[in-house]
Amino acid sequence: MKSYREELWFNVPQRRAFINITPQVEECLRKSGIREGLLLCNAMHITASVFINDDERGLHHDYEEWLENLAPHEPISRYWHNRTGEDNGDAHLKRQVMGREVVVAITNGKLDFGPWEQIFYGEFDGGRRKRVLVKIIGE
Ligand code: ZN
Repeated sequence: MKSYREELWFNVPQRRAFINITPQVEECLRKSGIREGLLLCNAMHITASVFINDDERGLHHDYEEWLENLAPHEPISRYWHNRTGEDNGDAHLKRQVMGREVVVAITNGKLDFGPWEQIFYGEFDGGRRKRVLVKIIGE
């Protein structure tokens, strides 16, 4: 069995963003040389997500509104977490809803997606360097 590991780095200038990272993940898969197996992709930070859905602007706008309704950034004082001096209580909750990781089957050297599936990095507390792990196992 082969294995491959790579970290993808991001520095999103705005507080929140959704970025389609499918091309970078496919490049990891190409470099791994693995044709049959499993690919794990996870955010390495507790205020960011990796998830799979459609690359459609309206949907991303809907996510933004839905998450901001669930866990508004402000007022910062509404979150107990922010009593530690942080201001990202909302970002922890948004990450929990949107998930930590995805696992994708690799078949014949390709990500074995369903229709319209793409992999996204969800940033909820940007303005600093953060990482995503890609781990691939198979043969
Ligand atoms: Zn925090």
